[in-house]
Amino acid sequence: GAMFNKLTAMPADPILGLLTKYREDDHSQKVDLGVGVYKDESGHTPILSCVKKAEKFRLETESTKVYIGPTGSADFNRLMSELAFGAVHPAIIANRIRTVSTPGGTGALRVAADFIKRCNPNAVIWVSDPTWANHTGLFEAAGITVKTYPYYDYETKSLKFDEMKAALANVSSDDVVLLHACCHNPSGMDLSVPQWDEIITLTADKGFTPLIDMAYQGFGDGVDEDAYGVRKMAAAVNDMILCSSCSKNFGLYRERIGACTIIAKDATRADIAFSVLLYVIRCIYSMPPAHGAAIVETILGSDELKQEWLDELTVMRERINGNRTMLVNKLKEKGVQRNFDFIAQQKGMFSFLGITAAQVAELQEHYSVYMVDSSRISIAGIGTGNVDYLAESIAKVIS
Ligand code: PLP
Repeated sequence: GAMFNKLTAMPADPILGLLTKYREDDHSQKVDLGVGVYKDESGHTPILSCVKKAEKFRLETESTKVYIGPTGSADFNRLMSELAFGAVHPAIIANRIRTVSTPGGTGALRVAADFIKRCNPNAVIWVSDPTWANHTGLFEAAGITVKTYPYYDYETKSLKFDEMKAALANVSSDDVVLLHACCHNPSGMDLSVPQWDEIITLTADKGFTPLIDMAYQGFGDGVDEDAYGVRKMAAAVNDMILCSSCSKNFGLYRERIGACTIIAKDATRADIAFSVLLYVIRCIYSMPPAHGAAIVETILGSDELKQEWLDELTVMRERINGNRTMLVNKLKEKGVQRNFDFIAQQKGMFSFLGITAAQVAELQEHYSVYMVDSSRISIAGIGTGNVDYLAESIAKVIS
């Protein structure tokens, strides 16, 4: 056969290309601000101590590897739903929430995409401009049209909130709007509490379905604080979808564990929607992997391990927030006139430095400082050991 001959090569993932270049660079002070994973002060992505303990427990107690079914683990699903919504959320009490375990947040989004396609084959999903690069490809792969609403203003380093509201006011009630729960990727620019309140009112008025992507719960202001929009939205609308990831906040990246949650008007409708969700899952991967879910449910199901997790999560969050202020202060110290205060105010793993593509290239070529072309920087790549060099390099390139 010659079927493959018709193929043309797809472009490589730019972030992975950057990582390869970084690894091959022998500059002694090279800095990697590309890849979006948490790193500690020494540049290592550690396994959390609570995870190690949960894995040990699992190794000792696991008794079968038999199929678990398309929903995954019931305990994991319940605990994830309580983590997202809080244990006494009215939607939990009304029994209108259904959660399944998925292969990472990406798996949750893909399940959501196929589910949306079954709700409305002509649905449009509205994503923020900009958004996580994978959102577009993922929804298009499910046959859904992707359109954008205004979000981040690169000039003023703030939210285009009025434009965002104006765009959402015109979204059809048959469509879906994707919102980031917290730690917006790539801009770091989140909705404030009053802005969430406005968007939630608008969503309930217009009747479109919100899909909230929560890939960084606990990385912004705290586990409960970061779920503000998720919780309030779920109480205000009939239908909603939530995609959660345990990759970052549990450090379980390669274990591929997350959750997809649907909220319907009432328990009966939730059961119907759930049956469709299970069908969609059977048609993609049949059943989710179990290991990551077992770890998370062991942690969240134990008061002691949960506290240890919250403490370890606080360390990660405070390091990221600390890095933000540290970089801003260092830039001032190196005599940079331009205002970078926005970096200290934004949240999560990323911000746009806001420099030109030519300056990004110069940083890479002359200073071995690596970031993607958009000048999005991964905040966890900063540390006390490289911040002086980083700030000096930025200062030279933008002066
Ligand atoms: N959503 C957003 C906004 C993300 O940034 C990511 C990961 O970078 C994900 C979802 C999916 O993460 P994963 O599939 O690794 O759980």
